[in-house]
Amino acid sequence: MTRYNSVVKVIIVGAGLAGLTCARQLQKSGAEVVVYEKSDGIGGRVRSDLVEGFTLDRGFQVFFTAYPAAKRQLDYAALDLRAFEPGALIAQGDRRHLLSDPSRDPDALIPSLLTGIVTTQDKYRTWRLSGEVGAKPISALLDGPDETTERFLKRRGFSPLFMENFIRPFFGGIFLDRSLQTSARVFQFCWKMLSEGETTLPARGMGAIAAQLAEGLDIRLESPVENLASLDADAVIVATAAPEAARLTGVKTPEGSVSTTTLYFVGKVPLWAGRKILLNANCDPVVNQAALLTNTAPEYAPRGEHLLSASVIGIPDQDDDALFAAALTDLRRMFTGDITAQSALATYRPLRAYRIPYAQFAQPKNFWQQLPTNQTTLPKTYFAGEFTAASSINGAMRSGEKAAEEILAGARPGHGES
Ligand SMILES: Cc1cc2nc3c(=O)[nH]c(=O)nc-3n(C[C@H](O)[C@H](O)[C@H](O)COP(=O)(O)OP(=O)(O)OC[C@H]3O[C@@H](n4cnc5c(N)ncnc54)[C@H](O)[C@@H]3O)c2cc1C
Repeated sequence: MTRYNSVVKVIIVGAGLAGLTCARQLQKSGAEVVVYEKSDGIGGRVRSDLVEGFTLDRGFQVFFTAYPAAKRQLDYAALDLRAFEPGALIAQGDRRHLLSDPSRDPDALIPSLLTGIVTTQDKYRTWRLSGEVGAKPISALLDGPDETTERFLKRRGFSPLFMENFIRPFFGGIFLDRSLQTSARVFQFCWKMLSEGETTLPARGMGAIAAQLAEGLDIRLESPVENLASLDADAVIVATAAPEAARLTGVKTPEGSVSTTTLYFVGKVPLWAGRKILLNANCDPVVNQAALLTNTAPEYAPRGEHLLSASVIGIPDQDDDALFAAALTDLRRMFTGDITAQSALATYRPLRAYRIPYAQFAQPKNFWQQLPTNQTTLPKTYFAGEFTAASSINGAMRSGEKAAEEILAGARPGHGES
């Protein structure tokens, strides 16, 4: 690794995953790094709160162990990861269908074929897609012309049943866009991550990822940077979300965003068994998907309690009471005909709602052509942030790594180079 021959002072604006990753890399190479963070905690969009003994992530989110940048940066054993079961439970009408993991085990579609929620051709096409995506390196997936996820899957002949019952709620929950207008490149990358690793939660909450990256760093909380001119450093890294990065630098960053609302309920009885996510394939859903988090990570709740997250795409114009009531009605509909689940649901009460207006920057087809690089047009000023790569934990961490690499490449190597 390149090391500075004299101490170089670097200021990083923002303690999200991109800023923290960048800070770590630069500190390891001998730079003197200070991170200024506007809010009262680290992690940016990846934070967890402790409320009445429950761990609440600020918006339902998951960690894919196959993320390449995360593999380089994180100590997975120390994160104490808890894995969801691949596949999903799909609520439709008065039935709950079990769909095992179509991305890594297309044979598992057979039980679903019997219940008529996917077709035999979907099984073959899933198998072919997994083979193709698995065989290609990530760089090849991110090459060539782009299209929407919906068009990509329709062109490959997936049935309307498969699209409506699985793809729309499942990837709608990942992209926060049930219309599937997200870039097919993002879809293929996600499919590869799903099939090549596990979908997990750290036992202490998603915020543990940020906490691990932050170890040993000098981070000044509640220290918003109003303008870059006030900063005295050899290099400044703007590691905020895209709109604030544009404001601070005057450089164009991606516009548009997707939003979500997560409603946490706590109850006394598990609503379903197993570690699968529950998708809503009913028409006009309020809840896109629900996760009984304590089935996967029991540490998220005090002993004997159960934590349910219900994800809503977008931010409905309702107060908490109305929103919780609408979600509960929809959850009851998802368990139509299941008397045991209905009586379990009666033990659940609302705990907290999180409305997240800026969850991810919008990633329509060809979005990547508009992304800024890590270099800005301002002297000594760099970007680190998902908006230079892709909207994900991996994108943020990769961007942080790249910003550090660019600064190190521009620095004169010292005697410590190895
Ligand atoms: C609800 C939700 C669900 C998600 N689900 C997933 C998922 O399942 N998997 C996945 O891979 N990704 C997911 N994402 C996306 C992922 O979390 C983000 O892409 C990533 O965390 C962005 O990191 P970042 O460091 O680029 O930006 P941010 O996390 O936004 O960090 C920017 C930081 O800069 C600070 N800041 C802003 N302005 C200033 C200023 N003027 N001075 C100082 N500090 C400032 C902010 O307070 C913040 O801490 C999800 C996001 C959300 C919100």
